[in-house]
Amino acid sequence: MPRDLASAEALLRDVFGFESFRPGQGEIVDAVTQGRDVLAIMPTGGGKSLCFQLPALVRPGLTVVISPLIALMRDQVRALREAGVAAGALTSGNTQDETDAVFDALHSGDLKLLYLAPERLASGGTARLLAEAGVSLIAVDEAHCVSQWGHDFRPDYLRIGALRRDLDVPVAAFTATADEETREEIVARLFGGGTPDVFLRGFDRPNIHLAFSPKDNPRKQILGFADARRGQPGIVYCGTRAKTETLAQALSQDGHVALAYHGGMDPERRRDVEARFAVEDGLIVVATVAFGMGVDKPDIRWVAHADLPKSIEAYYQEIGRSGRDGGPAETLTLYGPDDIRLRRSQIDEGLAPPERRIADHGRLNALLGLAEAQGCRRRVLLGYFGESPAADCGHCDLCDAPPETFDGTEAVRKALSAALRTGENFGAGHLIDILRGQATEKVKARGHDGLPTFGVGQDLSQSQWQAVFRQMMGFDLMRPDPERHGALVMTDRALPILKGEESVRLRRDVMAPRANRATPKA
Ligand code: ADP
Ligand code: ZN
Repeated sequence: MPRDLASAEALLRDVFGFESFRPGQGEIVDAVTQGRDVLAIMPTGGGKSLCFQLPALVRPGLTVVISPLIALMRDQVRALREAGVAAGALTSGNTQDETDAVFDALHSGDLKLLYLAPERLASGGTARLLAEAGVSLIAVDEAHCVSQWGHDFRPDYLRIGALRRDLDVPVAAFTATADEETREEIVARLFGGGTPDVFLRGFDRPNIHLAFSPKDNPRKQILGFADARRGQPGIVYCGTRAKTETLAQALSQDGHVALAYHGGMDPERRRDVEARFAVEDGLIVVATVAFGMGVDKPDIRWVAHADLPKSIEAYYQEIGRSGRDGGPAETLTLYGPDDIRLRRSQIDEGLAPPERRIADHGRLNALLGLAEAQGCRRRVLLGYFGESPAADCGHCDLCDAPPETFDGTEAVRKALSAALRTGENFGAGHLIDILRGQATEKVKARGHDGLPTFGVGQDLSQSQWQAVFRQMMGFDLMRPDPERHGALVMTDRALPILKGEESVRLRRDVMAPRANRATPKA
């Protein structure tokens, strides 16, 4: 084993021209080289390919690499050949000559890496070919394609399990998709339910500064953030197409070069925006999530979310488009109760099966937990991806200015009680009126001014109560009922608090009324 690793390090230098392993690569290379089943979760750009290419060279025999991305396979084969490695590909894009050359190399046993498009697995010919080729490792790129619930499902990926059984060789699977559900599906389908060594590495992007802010005056907040980064290329993500247009206009009026981008624009116009963003300095693209896949600009200096993304994965991907060059990058994500309502109803009204919806609520919860975090955000973010940093990052808004918290148990119990006593039929606005003792028409009409909860929350202002409700939704103590517009319903998580078995801490800084928050520090 030590000899393998030593030679791996020599190959790293001599073949790939790299000085050292990136975080996580060394351990993964080691495990794959030793012939263990491995599931490695690394972010895009983290350096996954090396983790199977290098072991392929150290191990005897042939490594089969299955990938859905033909262009990427061809790039890798070209790069490997240039480095003097015997590699080939069997994909639909091959010329007959290329295919013949690959077959010759396979028969003579010269090939070290064979890239294979998943469709190839459907043919009996491929199975026979591989059975005779001395395969010693199967590497699976984009392993989440085996997941039926994912966006990238490839039915042919389901054949990999059988291939593994037939060849009886280890599998090394790689993906950037980190959530638990997908991970379990990959293990079940690629490893026959066995227990691969799971590695989750390299998710930290220390050059990206993380920050969240409750929505206050979102347009002003975004304009302010952009103004402080004038002339630097950035992306503003919006929840709706209409908002991309209005915000782009507002930014333009403020002297920026800002272009809207969304799926409803014609393809030519979209390509034009992509092209301009790639080459022009200081352009801002105001976009829906449609802007992403094709963005390959290394020096995006900032990303702002005018609306809350739909999950923690989406958040990570979107902020991750900044600072690919390793240079400093700033991010700001705005969120408010309307975002939470919108995202919840999108999940509930979607066509996904119930298990999927439960998982989606979980992913949204993770993001809300990050939004309402009380300590280092990077710890919370990386914790979600399974990493546990040794120290606070020192590079997020909460490390910059640790928020003051207070025991919010009493306030939360009052809020829960107001909801329960009114049959969980009302939204935050009405509940706050009851708590603050506001005898509005609606309150009087329903006799809510006679409730024991009426007026018990006069110690907090309207906006402070809003912050309490938002944090409660962030901690998933209450959820809007999808069936009854805006009605807030208590979740099981809130029970121990209601019963007095648990306490909750709330952040004081996000509770401050607007005027106080704007006061400059002495
Ligand atoms: P992905 O994880 O998205 O498949 P790649 O394997 O394509 O990422 O690697 C991303 C980039 O990082 C490539 O340009 C690759 O050459 C580079 N890279 C990978 N490993 C190292 C390393 N140990 N040192 C320096 N650069 C590396
Ligand atoms: Zn931090």
